[in-house]
Amino acid sequence: MIKKETFNYQQQISTFAYMDIWDKEKRSQVMSKIRSKNTKPELALRKALFARGFRFRVNDKRLPGKPDIVLPKYKTVIFVHGCFWHKHEACKYAYTPKTNTQFWIDKTTSNVERDKINTEKLTVAGWNVLIVWECEVRHTYKHDIKPLIENLINSILENQPRYNSREN
Ligand code: ZN
Repeated sequence: MIKKETFNYQQQISTFAYMDIWDKEKRSQVMSKIRSKNTKPELALRKALFARGFRFRVNDKRLPGKPDIVLPKYKTVIFVHGCFWHKHEACKYAYTPKTNTQFWIDKTTSNVERDKINTEKLTVAGWNVLIVWECEVRHTYKHDIKPLIENLINSILENQPRYNSREN
């Protein structure tokens, strides 16, 4: 059963405004809530991929960076990155908050560095690493996710299945 989203985007946005007045403990509580998996964009992607016949694991802890979607057959992992947390380049959602600025710069910079290292580790291990940005799912393709899914599927299929099916 897929867990229901517990935190919506509007709440996230308004939450950032409160972050600065919360103490450290409260802040980390809220941050972990925001980061909670099974967010809407991720669910939308999973649903669409599943409908197209793809089978996958989710949030695989055994792989670097705990990829959101893992397609073992195609040796492909998909990360659905939040634009704010992973500093989506030239994206308006990857803004720097005006208060506690250094805290957020440090936080998001270290996320980006960790992403790079994880991608490297996965690539070296032979995985095809795909990134989908949250803004693409939430805004760009909000009303018709199909082009995004087609793109994604093309990228998945570029990586041949590791094993040939015996029926072939
Ligand atoms: Zn973005």
